[in-house]
Amino acid sequence: MPNTVAAAEELRPMKTAEPLALHFDARVLDHDTGTAVHETAENPWFAAHEPHTEGRLRIERMHDVLERGPAADAVRFAPGRLAEEDELARVHDADYIREVRRFAESGGGWVTATTRLGAGSYDPLRAAAGTALAAAETVLSGAAPMAYALTRPPGHHAQRAQADGYCFFNGAALAADAARRAGAARVLVLDWDVHHGNGTQDIFFERDDVLTVSMHMDHGAWGASHPQTGRLEERGAGAGLGFNQNVPLPLGAGNTAYLRAFDEVIAPIAQWLGPEMIVCASGQDASAYDPNGRHNVSMPGFYGIGARVRALAEQYTDGRAILVQEGGYNPSYAPYCLLATIEGLLGRAATADPLAYVPDQLLGLDERFAEISERNRAAREVSAPRT
Ligand SMILES: [Zn+2]
Repeated sequence: MPNTVAAAEELRPMKTAEPLALHFDARVLDHDTGTAVHETAENPWFAAHEPHTEGRLRIERMHDVLERGPAADAVRFAPGRLAEEDELARVHDADYIREVRRFAESGGGWVTATTRLGAGSYDPLRAAAGTALAAAETVLSGAAPMAYALTRPPGHHAQRAQADGYCFFNGAALAADAARRAGAARVLVLDWDVHHGNGTQDIFFERDDVLTVSMHMDHGAWGASHPQTGRLEERGAGAGLGFNQNVPLPLGAGNTAYLRAFDEVIAPIAQWLGPEMIVCASGQDASAYDPNGRHNVSMPGFYGIGARVRALAEQYTDGRAILVQEGGYNPSYAPYCLLATIEGLLGRAATADPLAYVPDQLLGLDERFAEISERNRAAREVSAPRT
């Protein structure tokens, strides 16, 4: 099997016997993105319709695999809740929140060429954001060391005042903000969705209390709703200079690329920062089968990501981490990739990958990691984390 993880994962249970809290609120399924051609408006050339790629099926199937699959005994389901508007306003402009609500109330429609709001979508969006907050509250109150918000639509493209890439409200940013409010001095956000976490970057760009790391395919800016490039030059500004780390990876990159990013970029950043909370933007659209990604991660790669999050959490945050669902659009494979992430997170035996055959791709990785390492060595000499 070509897709094996280079570094052997050490199997060991979490320090605590508490299971993972899996927050889910069925209201998020009512965000109706309608029918589309993949993610764009219907084309009359087709008489038979398909659901928009960011539809409810992907999350329903993820819920299924966690409820019925091999990790079911380790997952404790917990409720979500509706976020209040003053909570959303912690990371979004009040005018923008009102605009989203009014657009949904007036019947909704396309917000960008790929992002659609349904007539009844406002409460589902509040449930998505509120479920991320509920997961944060579980961890911050000590009820469980780790919590996962299984929710939709994703949030990491949602900027302070701009919807983008299916996203309206940024759940991971709300979770990071909640950790700060609960007293965590320094928060580390790890985003392994295959797309640039431009919304989270935008929200925390000038802050030195939340350091965001986004690993993604090197897709660059994609229009008015996504002017950020995701490239190495975007490092933060003002007090936040040095607190935004992009890790753009070559097209075709797979397990080795993502795990090297954890070992060679994130591990030194975590050591430098000393985070008091870890928040993860967990997508599965870096998988080899995703219609929205051009990366080749498979189950062993996602397992390795989960294992590395647990290792970082044990080293820096008393084993605590808050994870929020982002992309992952192949309803066949994304649920398996989430299962692998959670098995890695919990130190359980890895379920065999039923679909793995895409070879790992190493081209361009040595050069990219050398470039990141060299830039960071220079940058870290001029900035220091807050105490
Ligand atoms: Zn994505």
